[in-house]
Amino acid sequence: MSTSSITQFSSESRGQYNAKAYSAASATSPLAPTMIPRRDPGKDDVQIDILFCGICHSDLHQVRNEWSVMPTVYPCTPGHEIVGRVTQVGSAVTKFKPGDFAAVGCLVDSDGTCPECQTGLEQFCSNMTLTYNSPDVHLGGVTYGGYSDSIVVKEHFVLRVPSNLNLAGVAPLLCAGITTYSPMRHWGVMKGKKAGVVGLGGLGHMAVKFAHALGAYVVVFTTSPNKKDDAIRLGADEALVSRDADQMNKHAGTFDFILDSVSSEHDINAYIQLLGRDGNITVVGALDKPHAVLALGLLFKRRSLSGSLIGSIAETQEMLNFCGEHNITADVEVIPIQKVNEAYERLLKSDVKYRFSIDMASLKSQ
Ligand code: NAP
Ligand code: ZN
Repeated sequence: MSTSSITQFSSESRGQYNAKAYSAASATSPLAPTMIPRRDPGKDDVQIDILFCGICHSDLHQVRNEWSVMPTVYPCTPGHEIVGRVTQVGSAVTKFKPGDFAAVGCLVDSDGTCPECQTGLEQFCSNMTLTYNSPDVHLGGVTYGGYSDSIVVKEHFVLRVPSNLNLAGVAPLLCAGITTYSPMRHWGVMKGKKAGVVGLGGLGHMAVKFAHALGAYVVVFTTSPNKKDDAIRLGADEALVSRDADQMNKHAGTFDFILDSVSSEHDINAYIQLLGRDGNITVVGALDKPHAVLALGLLFKRRSLSGSLIGSIAETQEMLNFCGEHNITADVEVIPIQKVNEAYERLLKSDVKYRFSIDMASLKSQ
C-alpha cells in the first residue's frame, strides 16, 4: 500500500467514466459533491449501481487523517459498506449477471499469490487494495469508496446478497458485520460461552446480534446508560454501564471472550480482569494511540489480547449467508447523502442507533 506504487498501471489498459460521489478535500474539509473516475469494466469485473452505503467510524478516521500508519490521500471518497445492483459484467464473470444484487466491503483486490491469499485470508495480504485510499493500479491515483453512485470491482471481491434481507440494513454487514463475526468464529463464541461486547456502536450492535445468534451468554458494556434497554432488545442477556466499578467487579474472571469495539481512548485493563482462564479479548477499535496494558492482568489466568481485521472474502460470504438464515441485518438510520457531515458529528457523539446507511438515490437525483 505504499504511495510509491500509485503510478503503476495495469497492463490491461482501458477506458474510464465519471461517477457522482462525495469527497473530502482535506482533513478539515466537509464532504462535498464531486465526480470521480471509475474504470470501464474489464473481463473479470462487475459494475454495480450503488443503492446503499453504510457510514463506518473508519470512514471518519480516514477522512480526518487520524491514522498515522495510513495517511489519507486527498481528495478522499470513503465508504466500504456497499450494496447495489449489477449493471454490467465482464466476459469472464460467472457469479453475477446484470440485475442481481451485489455487495462490496473493505477489500477490492489482493495479489492472489502470497501465503495469506493462498490460504484464503486476503485481508492479511501485504499487497491488498482497500476500497478507498489504496493505490489504484488501473487508473493511477488512489481507489475511491462507496459514497458514490457506481463502482467497478473484480468479481472475486464481490459478494452475493441473501434475497430475504432489507438492503439498507445489509450494507453495514460488509464491514461492521464481518469485523465482529470473524473474531467470534475464530475464538469459538458459541452456546455455553460467555461473551462480552464493549461499546454499543455500529460494530458493537452487530457483535451482540451475532453472539446471541451463536448461542452465547452476552453482556454489553456501554458508556451510554440510555442504550441499556436497546442492548437487551438486540440480544444481550445483561447490559451494564462500564463506569460502574461495582457492577464490573461482579463479572471479574468470568468471560471466555470479549470484543472491544471502542473507537477512542479507554482503559482496556478494566476488561482484561473480567476474563476467565484462557479468556481472550480481541480489539477491533482502530485507535492511533497505544493501549497501556498491565502485564500482570494477562499473566493471571493465561489471558490473551489480540486484534482482528475485517474477514476474508469467503468468510464474508459465510457471514452474509448466516445473516440470511437468521434474518440478521444492521439497525440503520437511513439518510440522504446531503446529511453526511451532520451524520459524522452525530457518530462522534454516539448518537446513532446504530448505523447510518446512505440512500444513494439522494446522490443520483442531486
Ligand atoms: P461507532 O459506531 O462510533 O461505535 C463506537 C462505540 O464506542 C460508541 O458507540 C460508544 O459506545 C463507544 N465509545 C466511543 N467513545 C468512547 C470512549 N471514549 N470510551 C468508551 N467507549 C466509547 O464506531 P464503529 O463504526 O462501530 O467502529 C468502532 C471502531 O472500530 C472504530 O475505531 C473503527 O475504525 C474500528 N473498525 C475496525 C475494523 C477492523 O477491521 N478491525 C473494522 C471497522 C471498524 P457506547 O455508547 O455503548 O459506550
Ligand atoms: Zn468499516
